[in-house]
Amino acid sequence: MPRRRRRRRHTTEPRPIQVERKYCDALADEDDYYSELLCPKLIPANGPRFCPQHIRECADSYNIYKDASLRAEELQPCVYGFSRKHKRGGFQRLWEVDEAIEVTGEFIYWAELELDERKTHAYRFYAHGASMCLI
Ligand SMILES: [Zn+2]
Repeated sequence: MPRRRRRRRHTTEPRPIQVERKYCDALADEDDYYSELLCPKLIPANGPRFCPQHIRECADSYNIYKDASLRAEELQPCVYGFSRKHKRGGFQRLWEVDEAIEVTGEFIYWAELELDERKTHAYRFYAHGASMCLI
C-alpha cells in the first residue's frame, strides 16, 4: 500500500494586516514640542479625526468655552438691567454703581474667555475645513 504523503504545513508567519493610517487633524498647541505646526501622530484611517491626546484637548477646549458661555449668559440679564437702570438715572448709591461695574466686568471676562476659546478651538481642531459639530 502506498504511503500517503502528508501535506506540509505552511510554516511562514502570517503577514501583518495592513492598517491604513492618517495623520491627526489637530494643529499643535504652542505648548506642544513638535517641530511642525500639525500634529505628527499617525492614527487608524477609519478612526476618529484626532489622536488620543488631541481628543482630550478638543473636549477640554469645548468644555471651557461652553462653561464660559453659560456663565456669561447667566450674567447677561443683570448687565441689561444695569444698562436700563443707568438710562433712567436709577443709580442712587455708590454701592449700586460698584455692583454694576463688578458684575459687568465679570460678564465681560466670561464673554471674552468664550470668544477666545472658541477661536482657538476652531483654529486648532477645524483648520482643515471640517464642520464644527460640537457647537
Ligand atoms: Zn494629535
